[in-house]
Amino acid sequence: MTNKVIFKNLKKLISINTYTPFSHFKVAVIIVTDKGNFPGINFESKVVTNLGTCAERNAVFNGVSYGMKRIYELHLLSTSKKAQTYPCGACLQVLSEFMKNNDKIYIYNPSGKIVKTFKLSDLISAAKIN
Ligand SMILES: [Zn+2]
Repeated sequence: MTNKVIFKNLKKLISINTYTPFSHFKVAVIIVTDKGNFPGINFESKVVTNLGTCAERNAVFNGVSYGMKRIYELHLLSTSKKAQTYPCGACLQVLSEFMKNNDKIYIYNPSGKIVKTFKLSDLISAAKIN
């Protein structure tokens, strides 16, 4: 799947599938894995705050449900106008269990341009990385 196709799918996810009744801040992720690509969206509970989950962890849990053992890339789109959204510490810890130091995290802007590319180790240096 090319980055152009991945971005098209991220746009679809962010506009249709995210569930953010409080913040309306939307995040969509696609992970490229040994079992194919898996989507994730951020989720907020309408009833109880702090029951939400990030798009990154939703994608990982989705992949694990299908037997995924390895993540090669993570692609992220958010509604941040400055494309300043990165995986949080909890997500980085979970990602580090399936990604290696040099695996890439791509951050898209709303136009589909990759505006930042990180290695996992750029964002998390203290985790136990496989
Ligand atoms: Zn997170």
